[in-house]
Amino acid sequence: MPLRAKVATSVSKTAAALSRAAGRGDGSVIGGWIGLKIDPDLLGHLAAGRAIALVSGTNGKTTTTRLAAAALGVLGPVATNSFGANMPTGHTSALAKAGATPFAVLEVDEHYLARVIDETNPRVVALLNLSRDQLDRAKEVAMMAQMWRTALAGHPDVSVVANADDPLVVWAARGSSRVTWFSAGQRWIDDSWVCPESGDAIERANGDWWCTGCPLRRPNPQWRVEDDGVVDPRGDWHLVKLQLPGSVNIGNAATALAVAAEFGVRPIEALPRLATVSSIAGRYAQVDREGRNIRLLLAKNPASWLEAFDMAEQAPTLLSINARDPDGFDTSWLYDVDFAPLHNRPVLITGERAYDLAVRLEVNGIPFRHVLTFDEAIRSVPPGRLEVIANYTAFQDIRAELDRVN
Ligand SMILES: [Zn+2]
Repeated sequence: MPLRAKVATSVSKTAAALSRAAGRGDGSVIGGWIGLKIDPDLLGHLAAGRAIALVSGTNGKTTTTRLAAAALGVLGPVATNSFGANMPTGHTSALAKAGATPFAVLEVDEHYLARVIDETNPRVVALLNLSRDQLDRAKEVAMMAQMWRTALAGHPDVSVVANADDPLVVWAARGSSRVTWFSAGQRWIDDSWVCPESGDAIERANGDWWCTGCPLRRPNPQWRVEDDGVVDPRGDWHLVKLQLPGSVNIGNAATALAVAAEFGVRPIEALPRLATVSSIAGRYAQVDREGRNIRLLLAKNPASWLEAFDMAEQAPTLLSINARDPDGFDTSWLYDVDFAPLHNRPVLITGERAYDLAVRLEVNGIPFRHVLTFDEAIRSVPPGRLEVIANYTAFQDIRAELDRVN
């Protein structure tokens, strides 16, 4: 590495360590920010010589990144941004902290994918899904698909691992010459009724989809979820045993296996490592408090709330909503979520925007109780499971109450 990059790396690591020591989070954003100020090309320098996979999409990228990093661990040390800092500052910090590793798996914010591809020259890019998320500041999904398509067109040598079930992802990826398709299912389909190529209606039946006006249709996936396992490109079925709940995580495991296979890791080698992942920065963590088994589910947008309802057991459920900067200030997306799955279970609500949630639940005819603190929520339910579904900063608040559970 050039001298400037070496200095930038060292200062970046020191700044991150100081931030951690001061109790201000994991320090990856400030560390990366300072490193990039000293050497704007630092991410490229740190990426050089590593075989890298990038993972992007609206939902599931933190979990899939963690699973793919676990799978690649078969081959040797893997650098990864496991704290979810998924912009170039976070990537820079993660690579600086890891030192020289032969491999890296990086979660990438959808908006930054083009830039991070340019700077890190990845071997593999995994595209999970695109759905509405913080529309008060983020891009429309069709614009995001166009950005991805343009980014990949400039890098024909990159292997793309892409979700065959999402028409927007397929449209973004299908210009690439090296695409491996996986099928991880897509419960939320309300952002892909219109063909991004021709503007005609998309129809769906039995897991298949096709455009009614042009040739765009679901490609045949080489990797797919079947029951509680994954079928590989040779047609062999592998049982997937995870500590993470829900069918959505079997899909994330299928994606991780497809990514790992691009590096030569076979499912039979990777699967035992996937089974060791128990929670990811508090997501899916279970904590016992006063006889209650509290499980934390992070859900940030309509598609992820739908998945959270699928994962949550029929048990008392606490919903918490904030609308700070990382959450987006607009809570109107709550009207895109169907809360009907919460019928017939005790529902508690909290968070700074609990009243927005209250109105929404009224509209859906769901009875609920408003609690002011997390402790009050715990005292309000009988011993046993308490499911907690919260958006980003609300989730971090509750995690802090539980002593920053990981
Ligand atoms: Zn079409």
